[in-house]
Amino acid sequence: MQRYICRTCGVQYGESTEVPDHCLICEEERQYVSPTGQTWTTLEEMKKESFKNEIKLEEPGLYSVKTEPEFAIGQTAYLVQNEGFNLLWDCVTFLDEETINEINRLGGLDAIALSHPHYYSTQVEWAETFDAPIYIHEDDREWVTRDSSRIVYWSGESLELHNGLTIHRLGGHFKGGAVLEWKAGYDGKGILLSGDIIQVVADREWVSFMYSYPNLIPLPAAKVKEMAAAAAGFQFERLYNAFHRIVKENANERVQKSAERYVKALEGRLFDT
Ligand SMILES: [Zn+2]
Ligand SMILES: [Zn+2]
Repeated sequence: MQRYICRTCGVQYGESTEVPDHCLICEEERQYVSPTGQTWTTLEEMKKESFKNEIKLEEPGLYSVKTEPEFAIGQTAYLVQNEGFNLLWDCVTFLDEETINEINRLGGLDAIALSHPHYYSTQVEWAETFDAPIYIHEDDREWVTRDSSRIVYWSGESLELHNGLTIHRLGGHFKGGAVLEWKAGYDGKGILLSGDIIQVVADREWVSFMYSYPNLIPLPAAKVKEMAAAAAGFQFERLYNAFHRIVKENANERVQKSAERYVKALEGRLFDT
């Protein structure tokens, strides 16, 4: 028996004797099947390759976790330290002894929370290794490819995991798409960790919102207005996305301005081309 991992999206499947025929996540318009075809690996195979996780201190209480060389979607996960409570926000596929030792040195994990299915990766391996629950919004349950009793399917719009550390469902990219509000971050000015739910764009002063990033399918104007209105009520001045892009200052204001620009573009009021 093996637990196969899709090489295009990095998501691990439950035990099977044969290589899966399809990837649920990739064969859907928010991801894609590689033009060279579907390929699979396992965590054991990956350990024989040259992968390693870089764990880097970004600022007080916040570490980034990124696999090098880049694997699958190439996301960054974050370890948030909030008054002795350690949360892994999003996840990466690769997990080896060196990573386990380093995370344990930082105090281990009290919980894992996911923004959306593209980063489910090997979340159950991480949860079992660090004896931690996994928080996933119940609206994204259908995308879990390896089920586990460690998964807590939360419901509603918000869930406080610890003092001032709250996951909020914004939807959009995925129905259960969630962001993490960390009030104590950035000297108490607040940090929002947004996964792909709010995406930081090239110049770092603007963000965007999409249903599908690889296939460039936008979200409806009404949904973006709703997401921005919800974010306006969160405490944050800085924002980190899933690709190590950071809006360093005035992030809440930048989210509002970006949503206005996006809606104007969708409604034909931004340009005349
Ligand atoms: Zn896949
Ligand atoms: Zn995504």
